[in-house]
Amino acid sequence: MNPAELLLLGLAAVGSVWALAGYLRASRARRRARRREQQGAETARETCAVCHLPVDPRVDLFDENSRGWWHRDCWREAML
Ligand SMILES: [Zn+2]
Repeated sequence: MNPAELLLLGLAAVGSVWALAGYLRASRARRRARRREQQGAETARETCAVCHLPVDPRVDLFDENSRGWWHRDCWREAML
């Protein structure tokens, strides 16, 4: 194998690794964007039964009877 062939082979290898890395990066960014959209849609859909502001499903409370979300603080105030 002469140096020119070796150089071409090396360039091809670098090119394919670079293309693969670019593809992985793009698909990861797409996945992350989709997850952000889903989370955004969820939080936008759920609003507090008392003040009608968006709730955070990770910290706020879901009431099975009224099928509605309550802010932790709004729930506490309603119970007082
Ligand atoms: Zn509230």
